[in-house]
Amino acid sequence: MRTFTSLLMPAGFVCAVLAVNACTKKPTTASETAATSATPTITIGSAIYKYEDTFMSGVRGSMAKAAEGKATIDFVDSANQQPVQSEKVDLFIAKKVNALAINPVDRTAAGILIDKAKAANIPIVFFNREPMPEDMQKWDKVYYVGAKAEESGTLSGEIVVDYFKKHPESDKNKDGIIQYVMLTGEPGHQDAELRTKFSIKAIEDAGYKTEKLAQDTGMWDRIKGQEKMAAFLGSRGDAIEVVISNNDDMALGAIEALKAVGYFKDGKVMPVVGVDATAPALQALQEGTLTGTVLNDAKNQGQATFALSYVLAQGKVPDQANTGYAITSEKYVWVPYKKVTKENMNEVM
Ligand code: BGC
Repeated sequence: MRTFTSLLMPAGFVCAVLAVNACTKKPTTASETAATSATPTITIGSAIYKYEDTFMSGVRGSMAKAAEGKATIDFVDSANQQPVQSEKVDLFIAKKVNALAINPVDRTAAGILIDKAKAANIPIVFFNREPMPEDMQKWDKVYYVGAKAEESGTLSGEIVVDYFKKHPESDKNKDGIIQYVMLTGEPGHQDAELRTKFSIKAIEDAGYKTEKLAQDTGMWDRIKGQEKMAAFLGSRGDAIEVVISNNDDMALGAIEALKAVGYFKDGKVMPVVGVDATAPALQALQEGTLTGTVLNDAKNQGQATFALSYVLAQGKVPDQANTGYAITSEKYVWVPYKKVTKENMNEVM
């Protein structure tokens, strides 16, 4: 079950409630508002790739909540710039934080951050953006918390399959081929690459033929998703039979573009599938504009990131007993995804 904070509050509200420093500019900590009864002596330095990201706001909120009364999390916004993040990590190291929890801007930069952390003997937990496997092996105090990107791709493809089985009329030109457009996340992000690949694979594995009418990156962003979808509609118009998006924000942007040309009224429908199950996406499922999404479990990813960082910060070795999460021998924690449609959305709220 996801909490009200991690799921239902819009990003801005999470920000206001948790007083993380996107809102106030001053250096803030999760414990400022959270830890009233205890004075935590453990400090975790956490750099988020970009505070504006809807999904990451949920993860950050969950980490802050998990830290309440136990540790101080010093959160910083890397403003989507790796040099900014690297500088923030240097500052955390200079301040001698007890552990680092890093959501890299550029996952190929993780190796350099590991070198710095190792030199200072400060354990480091990456989350959401997966370091290269060879970097993960650089030191035994490096961990990763995330979700298997291919799994989310497969599940979103299965949602498309379920929809076409139920609605054969969605094959508008009756050619037996699913004509799709794809909105991809940031190039190089494991979730963008693998969701794109595995969603189509799942559709084809189910026996459908597919045809890509258009594909472009919306960089995980709702406005960019809307712009790209408007362009797809301009060039391919009614030939499009389904919109597949690597995340919910871009799917919601696509829905806006579809609405602008008359979809979702007078019986004109378009299946749109996203990933994340953010609060606004669940709202769209409820309204019937979004067909389906895949729960990217911000609550458990945040909790696991904190749990590992906290144990490492105390000089212990994380295992299932002291974190509550299964950790692979390569030091990964994988939080499962789940298909979400209007029918089962209550299960994730
Ligand atoms: C989420 C996206 C988010 C990205 C940030 C992905 O796992 O699905 O919504 O923008 O992570 O790195």
